[in-house]
Amino acid sequence: MVVGPVFQHKPGACARCAHPLEDLNSTHVCKACGRPQPAPERTIPPDYFAFFGIRPRLRLNVTDLEKRFYEISRTLHPDRFTTAAAEDRLASVERMTLLNEGYRTLKDSFARLRYFLELAGVSRSGRAVPSALAELWFEVQESMSEHAESAAAKLASFEELFASTSRSHARDVEALEREIDAALEKAEAAGLTHSSDVLPLPELLRKLSEWIQVEIYLRSLARDVQRLKAEGPQCR
Ligand SMILES: [Zn+2]
Repeated sequence: MVVGPVFQHKPGACARCAHPLEDLNSTHVCKACGRPQPAPERTIPPDYFAFFGIRPRLRLNVTDLEKRFYEISRTLHPDRFTTAAAEDRLASVERMTLLNEGYRTLKDSFARLRYFLELAGVSRSGRAVPSALAELWFEVQESMSEHAESAAAKLASFEELFASTSRSHARDVEALEREIDAALEKAEAAGLTHSSDVLPLPELLRKLSEWIQVEIYLRSLARDVQRLKAEGPQCR
């Protein structure tokens, strides 16, 4: 079942003193009693978007994310709770862990994509390898045992194709991200509360998961190329 990220969180009340928790920082530490709120129940994966008080989107304002990270970090810092009750110390440590994990995941665009799919319950599918690129790479490797000149020429044409494939891949992913975010935006405006209620979304996310497989392939290929160039042609 697709659960997906939650769009709207109702402001809750302090678990310790029942004071309403209105803004982002008070969802972590109550302003009225100064006590950290118990860490949210662990889900796999955790809803980091909710933790940071931001809408689930693929394209994030990373500067805003960083600002939130530092703000929440100051609010929750365990140094502020050294003399607090054990349950409060534990809550601050658990929340700090979520904060650090969430920040690491959300600030990196690729990690964020993978996380988003995990959150939406989409499993990785179909490894759609760009076949022209794969074939040319095979030829490059073959040519390494031939003349240095022909190996260098093959490598140069491979790198050209690799660069253009990577550029068009990046453009495709960006367009898809925008399409998904627009669908989320629309759903939110319509008052839907879960991404699983957004109709075109499962299809778009499936497409995204295929693109991620391509991205993984391109990244590993880039590493192989670097390795090959470092070793140099094995000419005879
Ligand atoms: Zn309170």
